[in-house]
Amino acid sequence: MLRTLVWFRRDLRLRDHAALAYACNSSESVVTAFVLSPTLLRDERCGAPLVQFFFSALRGLRERLRSFGSDLVLLEGDFADELDNLATQLNCNALAFNQDTDPAAIARDAIVSERFAARGIKVSSFVDQVAFGHDRITQASGKPYTVFTPYKKRWIETYTNSPLCAYPSERLLPGKLLPREELPPSHDIPTPETYGHTSSPHFPTGDEMSARNTLKDFLHQRIGRYQDQRNLPALDATSHLSPHLRAGTISVRTCISAAFAQHANADHATEQQIETWISEFIWRDFYHQILRNFPHTATGPFDPRGNAIRWLNDEADFTAWCQGRTGFPIVDAAMRQLNTTGWMHNRLRMIVASFLTKDLLVNWQYGERYFEQHLADADLAANNGGWQWSASTGTDAAPYFRVFNPTIQAKTYDPDGSFVRRMLPELGTSDYPAPIVDHAYARVRALEHYGAVFGKKVKS
Ligand SMILES: Cc1cc2nc3c(=O)[nH]c(=O)nc-3n(C[C@H](O)[C@H](O)[C@H](O)COP(=O)(O)OP(=O)(O)OC[C@H]3O[C@@H](n4cnc5c(N)ncnc54)[C@H](O)[C@@H]3O)c2cc1C
Repeated sequence: MLRTLVWFRRDLRLRDHAALAYACNSSESVVTAFVLSPTLLRDERCGAPLVQFFFSALRGLRERLRSFGSDLVLLEGDFADELDNLATQLNCNALAFNQDTDPAAIARDAIVSERFAARGIKVSSFVDQVAFGHDRITQASGKPYTVFTPYKKRWIETYTNSPLCAYPSERLLPGKLLPREELPPSHDIPTPETYGHTSSPHFPTGDEMSARNTLKDFLHQRIGRYQDQRNLPALDATSHLSPHLRAGTISVRTCISAAFAQHANADHATEQQIETWISEFIWRDFYHQILRNFPHTATGPFDPRGNAIRWLNDEADFTAWCQGRTGFPIVDAAMRQLNTTGWMHNRLRMIVASFLTKDLLVNWQYGERYFEQHLADADLAANNGGWQWSASTGTDAAPYFRVFNPTIQAKTYDPDGSFVRRMLPELGTSDYPAPIVDHAYARVRALEHYGAVFGKKVKS
C-alpha cells in the first residue's frame, strides 16, 4: 500500500497543486507536512512581512485540511531529520514535493531526497511555482534564453500549443488524507515573534481563500485598465497577488488561465490590457529560469563586468535610503511604503533601485538584501532579477547610462503628488530633509563609474 508524504513549502494551498494531485492519484493515503526551520526563520535575510504572510497562509492551509478531517503536520527542526522521522512514524513509502529554483532550496531538497532514496523511499518532484520549468522554454540549440523578448515569444507559442491545465488536487482529496486522529500531535502555528520578528497589522496576511478573492477582484475591477494605470502608484491598480504567489496560496496556472479566459472574450482594447498583465507572469518565469540556469546570479552579477564597478557604498547614504530620508520625495515615499506595509509598487521599486545603484553608487546587493528583509513577497528570482536589471548588471538589463531622474519620474507617475503626500505627511515641514545628493552631479558620476566598466564612452 502506497502512503505518500506531501511536503508543503512555498505552495500553501489545496487547489491546483501538482505534488498533491500526484500523491492523491498514485497512492492509497496521503500525509501533509510543513517544516519550520528555526535556522531559516531567524536568518537575517528572512524578514517579518514574509514570515507573517507565511504563518497566516499556514493557518489557512491547516484549517482547510482540518475541514477534510485531516491536519497539516507542523514540524520544527532540520528538514531531513524531521521529514525522515515523520515518514518512519507513519510508514510513508513515498515523498512528493514541488520544485524550487532557489539554489539553497535545491541543495536542501537534494539532501532530503538522498536521505529518502537511501531508505528505498520513492521521491517525486514537480514543476509548480512557475508556469514552465527552466528547461521547457529554450532556444532551438537547447540553451536557455538570456533576453526577455525572444523568451516571451517562445513562452507564448508554448502556451498556445499546450495551455496550462489545473491539477484537480482538491477534488481528489476526499478519502485520501490520513485522519487527524492517526497523525502525531503537532505544533501550533507560531507567531512571527517566536522567531524574533515583529509583526504588524499593516503587513499583508492571506490564505488560499483570500488569494482567490484577490484574483477575482482584480479580474473584475482592474485588469481592464492594467496597462494604462499600472505605473501610477497612487491608483494602486495592480493585483497585489505577489505575496500570494510567493507563498503559493494561489497557483500561477490559475492566474494565467483566468487571464487568458478573460482575454478570449475581451474587446481589442481590453485584450492589450490583459496581455500586459500576462507579460508580468512571463517576466516572473523568465527570472526563475535565469536563477535556475545561472545560479551564480544569486550571489553576484550575471554580467561578470559588474564585479568591477567601483561602488561608493557610503553608509550614511545607504541608511538615508533605507529610512526614506534622502530628501527625494518619490524615493522616500516609496521606502515609507515598503517599511510600513511590507510591499512596494513596481514602478517605485525601479525608481529606488536606480537611485541607490546609480545616484548613490551603492552596490545593488545591499538593496537586494534590504528588500529581502522587508518585502512580504521577497522572492530571490524576481528580486535579484529586478535589482540586476536596475543596476545594469543582469540579463537584458537597463543600459548602464539609463539613470532615472527621480524628479521626472515623480512628475510622470505621480503627477498630482497624491501618492507622495499620502506617504509623507511631513513633506514641506522642517522635519523633511534636504536632498542628500545633487542628481545632475550624481548622474555624471554614475556614468563615469559605470562607463569605466562597461567600456562605453561617457555620455553627459
Ligand atoms: C528592484 C525590484 C525588486 C523586486 N523584487 C520582487 C520580489 O522580491 N518579489 C516579487 O514577487 N517581485 C519583485 N519585483 C517585481 C514586481 O515589482 C512585483 O512582482 C510587483 O510589484 C508585485 O505587485 P503585484 O502583485 O500587484 O503585481 P502585478 O502587476 O499585478 O503582476 C502580477 C504578478 O506578476 C509577477 N510580476 C510582476 N512584475 C514582475 C517583475 N518585474 N518580475 C517578476 N515578476 C513580476 C508577480 O508575481 C506579480 O504578483 C521586483 C521588481 C524590482 C524592480
